[in-house]
Amino acid sequence: MSTATTRRYSASDVARAQFLRAVRYLHLRDDLIEYLLTPKRELIVHFPVIMDDGRMRMFTGYRVHHNTVKGPTKGGIRYHPDVNLDEIRALAMWMTWKCALMNLPYGGAKGGVQVDPKQLSKNELRRLTRRYTTEISILISPEGDVPAPDVGTNPEVMAWIMDTYSMHRGYSTPAVVTGKPISIGGSQGRIEATGTGVMFTTMEAMRHLGMDPAETTVAVQGFGNVGSIAALRMWEQGCKIIALSDVNGGIYNSRGFHVRDVMRYQKEHGTISTYPEADAITNAELLTCRCDVLIPAALEGVIDELVAPGVKARLIAEGANGPCTTEGEEILLDKGVTFVPDILCNAGGVTVSYFEWVQDLQGFFWTEAEIFERLRRLLLENFRAVWETAQEKRVDMRTAAYTLAISRVVEAIEVRGIYP
Ligand code: NAD
Repeated sequence: MSTATTRRYSASDVARAQFLRAVRYLHLRDDLIEYLLTPKRELIVHFPVIMDDGRMRMFTGYRVHHNTVKGPTKGGIRYHPDVNLDEIRALAMWMTWKCALMNLPYGGAKGGVQVDPKQLSKNELRRLTRRYTTEISILISPEGDVPAPDVGTNPEVMAWIMDTYSMHRGYSTPAVVTGKPISIGGSQGRIEATGTGVMFTTMEAMRHLGMDPAETTVAVQGFGNVGSIAALRMWEQGCKIIALSDVNGGIYNSRGFHVRDVMRYQKEHGTISTYPEADAITNAELLTCRCDVLIPAALEGVIDELVAPGVKARLIAEGANGPCTTEGEEILLDKGVTFVPDILCNAGGVTVSYFEWVQDLQGFFWTEAEIFERLRRLLLENFRAVWETAQEKRVDMRTAAYTLAISRVVEAIEVRGIYP
């Protein structure tokens, strides 16, 4: 897999190129373009954590606010060894467009710590999370900046963030973070939200393309929060899931997987790469296997100019943020591949995070059925807007999504005016 460490890949360059491709259709002034490309604030923190053996180890973390014009910022926190400022900056910008596209009253943010959470004990991870939360507490708050889970973090980490922030305030502040366990103000459906949203938008794209679920084969890269639920939901819709993977490698079965059984296996063994009754494949082979729908749901930058020519899927549903490089995407668009772009495809996560924040602020909670109905309605409404814009402007789905999102942020900037 091409990640920031193995190739000269810059997520910020990709985010910038996607933005610049879309603004061609918006006729924006150069000064406004410069403003929209510039992150509002970037915090880098270096901090010590006492490890279980008593030794102290230094870690580096980030929190970036890209744009705050439409409201408090929203964006996940990633724990991964490759986390760096360039990546967090790109992810923060993508959050601005994603929130604007979904008409959520938020700006974009992202945070992360350079760490492999699997190498740390639970106590070490808790101390790291509490210290990182304290270091970025000058930025986060229910009114200012609300983190959420991302790669390598989960509801338990969100609970530690909520608890740490609350201890500093002297009272419980559930709305400071989303993706929490239900018992402390989490929302029904948040864990399944992103993957379920991937399914809603992918099924809608398939409907437009005349693809019958019963005849459709799907490959999913990444079997974490997003990938496993996306695979499960697509399987429940009647699609055949023929390839799956995690960081240890992939599995392939042309007859299709029983996704619930793969999930059970993962729980027991910590990986799916050794799942029986399947051929072992690499993550690179998964991306180019013969399938109708490809759902990259691991990390960014995996479909580049080397991988793209081999991709056989006719529909790519971007569960991950930024899984395609600019060059990779150009090749695929030339081949006639349709994209459900990340800022639409995986927007179910931030949308239910928004629902969670609203429920926390009002102290009144909705049922799971209400959550998924509202989520489905919002995603399909915005899918329709993107699809129609793409037809109208004769552009690809990502460019259409960006033009809608950017114009909503621009409208907010113009209505507010530039301070002072
Ligand atoms: P996760 O940590 O739950 O799962 C990540 C998965 O990717 C795991 O199966 C892991 O084994 C696999 N993986 C990690 N490194 C890999 C590599 N080098 N090659 C192949 N597989 C690898 O993370 P997640 O929350 O599912 O996030 C996945 C993607 O979705 C990220 O791009 C994230 O930004 C995006 N996303 C997540 C959410 C959310 O709500 N969690 C919302 C929107 C977007």
